[in-house]
Order: sequence, then C-alpha cells, then structure tokens
Amino acid sequence: MPELPEVETSVQAIQEFTNQNLESIKIHNPNLRWKVDIATFKKLHGLKVSKINRRAKYILLHIEQSQILVHLGMTGTLRIAEKNSNFYKKHDHVEFIFQNRKLIFNDPRRFGSMHHIKEPGTHFLLENLGPEPLSQEFNGEYLFHKIKKSISPIKNALMNQQNVVGIGNIYANEILFDASIRPTRKSKTLKKKEYEEIASSTKKILKRAIKAGGTTLQDFYQPDGNKGYFKIDLNVYDRENQKCKKCKEELIKRIVQSQRATFYCRQCQI
Ligand SMILES: [Zn+2]
Repeated sequence: MPELPEVETSVQAIQEFTNQNLESIKIHNPNLRWKVDIATFKKLHGLKVSKINRRAKYILLHIEQSQILVHLGMTGTLRIAEKNSNFYKKHDHVEFIFQNRKLIFNDPRRFGSMHHIKEPGTHFLLENLGPEPLSQEFNGEYLFHKIKKSISPIKNALMNQQNVVGIGNIYANEILFDASIRPTRKSKTLKKKEYEEIASSTKKILKRAIKAGGTTLQDFYQPDGNKGYFKIDLNVYDRENQKCKKCKEELIKRIVQSQRATFYCRQCQI
C-alpha cells in the first residue's frame, strides 16, 4: 500500500503538469472505491491545473476554484506517458490528457478513489484529518496534549488519522523502534519527553523515505508503469526472530494489534 512518502514522491513526479491545460479526461472504468462521476469530470476539459500538492495521502490537482482529489488506495499508481501512446495497461482507469503527455491512474484492486471537490476543508474525506507529520504544527508538545489522556496503545494512536495523518503500519513500527517506545504502551503513560522522541523519529523516518523515493522518479516514465512501491530500509518491521539492530542481542518479537502486525524489541523498547 502506498504510504505518505510514496504519495509525496508521486506528487513531485507529476509537477510537470502544473500550469498546463487539461485537454480532456478519459475514463476507461469509473468503478473505483466510489464510482467516478463522469459528467462532472467532463466539465473540467480545457481548464488549467494551477497547482498539484498533497494532503495526507490524497493528491490534489487544483483547477480554478476546485480540486480533483485522488487517493491511490491499496494498489493505485500514477504513470506518465506520451499523449499519443496507445500502450494500454490492464486496470488503467483514468487518463488525464495534457498538451504533450498524459497522466494515467491504474488500480488493480480498485480501493483508490477520484472525486471532484469544491471545498476541501469540509469534504468528508478531508475534514477530520489531523496535522501533517512534517509540519511545524506536529511536534511533541502537540502530540502530548492531543493524546495524553488516551488509553489507546501508542501505535494505534499514531495510526489514527485524526491525531496525525499519513502514518501507516510499517512506519508506525519503524518510528516506535527508532524512538525506543514499546508499541503496546497506553498513550496516557507516555511522558512528554517520549512524545518529543516520537515526533522527532516520525520526521526523521518519513524524510529519509521521501529522499529515498526521489531516486524512483524516473520510473514514472516507464511505459509498463511497473514501478512498485519503493523499499525503505526496515529496522524492525517484518524482522520477527531476527536479531535487533540496536542491542544486537534480543530477537524481534511479533504480535498483532488491531489486526495489524507489530514488531518490537523487548529490550530496547520500553
Ligand atoms: Zn534491541
């Protein structure tokens, strides 16, 4: 599943379409998580995309006073092709056709989505989202005040998009390993200093992943679009029974929390 760093990389990779006119939108298959509203998208033909950015794991293409909101879901990818390319890949759902090139949304499992919205602040997919993890607003102080009374395990609290956006299961594991905090601890038992560690590990790990993702930008131009999602250096995730990379003694333990796999070191994470 694409996580925040992949989405950020996608946004960077498609910047060439900023300030370009969207000549047309071709919808091959409107069946995504929510059915794509073909009639509404037709009205956008000929208009200029003024900005492309990200909010949480949503990609926003700004067009006049509105936005196209794209979510990659579990298996969605974007790729760029020459406008006249006839290469069609199975599960290509939508093509955004610009002057020289086109942007293609492919999604085999159809958990992705595409909406045309006018008020992002009140749209049901965006209205309850917490701050961006890489913003100044997200820091130890913020997190402490937000969840200091919560009895949720800290890992669940980090993955709750109302507290902070864009932290999926893999990153939650890696962040807590980096911060030396046990994922099962109740949020209310953490000290302010520990929240500061978590906030700083969050920024460090996400920035590192985005930087690593930059090297995959050229994959957006491969005609088959088989870029996959980039691999980050995993220090704890998926390392059950392997030696901890920090203490080099304990074996990493795997448990399940809210149906998601959790990995941690019993010695380093307290
Ligand atoms: Zn350890």
